Amino acid sequence: MSQIITLEQLKQTLKEKLASGARVVAPVLDGDMATFKPITNVEKASFEPRACVQNSIKEFFFPKHETLFSFVRQGNDVVLTDAADFDVEQIVVGARPCDAAALPILDPLFAWDYQDRFYQERRAKTTVVTFACTKSDAHCFCSAVGGAPDNTSGADAILFDLGDGSFEVRAVTEKGTALFAGKTSESDKTGAACEPPKADFDVNSIAAWIRENYSSPLWEKVSLRCVGCGACAFVCPTCHCFDMVDEGSYNKGKRVRNWDSCQEAMFTLHASGHNPRGTQGKRQRQRLAHKFVIYPDKFKSFLCTGCGSCSRSCGQMFGVRPCLEALDKQGVKAQQ
Ligand code: SF4
Ligand code: SF4
Repeated sequence: MSQIITLEQLKQTLKEKLASGARVVAPVLDGDMATFKPITNVEKASFEPRACVQNSIKEFFFPKHETLFSFVRQGNDVVLTDAADFDVEQIVVGARPCDAAALPILDPLFAWDYQDRFYQERRAKTTVVTFACTKSDAHCFCSAVGGAPDNTSGADAILFDLGDGSFEVRAVTEKGTALFAGKTSESDKTGAACEPPKADFDVNSIAAWIRENYSSPLWEKVSLRCVGCGACAFVCPTCHCFDMVDEGSYNKGKRVRNWDSCQEAMFTLHASGHNPRGTQGKRQRQRLAHKFVIYPDKFKSFLCTGCGSCSRSCGQMFGVRPCLEALDKQGVKAQQ
């Protein structure tokens, strides 16, 4: 038997969480598109089947802008004050499987040479509820990087839309079981995700090509469309580059970190004026090599879930899938 929850029961579950002081994050309609936002009224949440949401749930674990500590100068001393702990329970509901799948990919990064308590505290206090995909679009390629429309990686529970105002609930972890305990009823209905999206390139072959073709002129050729705006990194669930700056004055201020993007011209600009990645081709090479060679070498997984958000958001109709397709056609297959 499967476990079923109606949309009204799901909203009631979220209402109870809000009443208990938890923070609830859900897709909220913003014109034609949905954006993940913290909500205080569950009626604002939009749980319609969709292939994309404008932002990634990443920002509720790793915010765009956050204070690490504040400082104040007192005589010859500098007094540091840690940022407050993240001590709120958080429920993120309505994520796509390819968005949630980024979390286990990022976990080792934030627990590697530095134990990042900011990320780790949010991860520990958050329950992630995904919706199995009911549609894909031309940007999706989760199946090419080991994902699927019903992938449960990173999810505490996955919901399958039954199309009648109810969902099949499949708990994945103890947190997911606890969230829906006593909220579901038994049924013989079962949900199913859509068919996996198609991709006619092999990511492992492209990764092998990247390893061998660091200096290929193809990098500049395929990157001509890219204007280096960085939008692809900001919507990406796995991109995690950040910059740290001190804000305030000499006597009083705070250290903050802000998202950064390897596609922006100043990303690796040296104080001397030299930039080792001084062209867009070199910056795209950095992005692709990091995602498909360097990160897998270090952490044993691609730094990409095939969500398609980068190309969906790119004003130049570029992004990772078009870049992979160009490297496959003009690099991998041209050599065969
Ligand atoms: S690929 Fe597109 S979104 Fe990314 S930096 Fe280039 S132009 Fe901007
Ligand atoms: S690189 Fe593009 S397709 Fe891959 S996870 Fe990031 S946004 Fe999604």
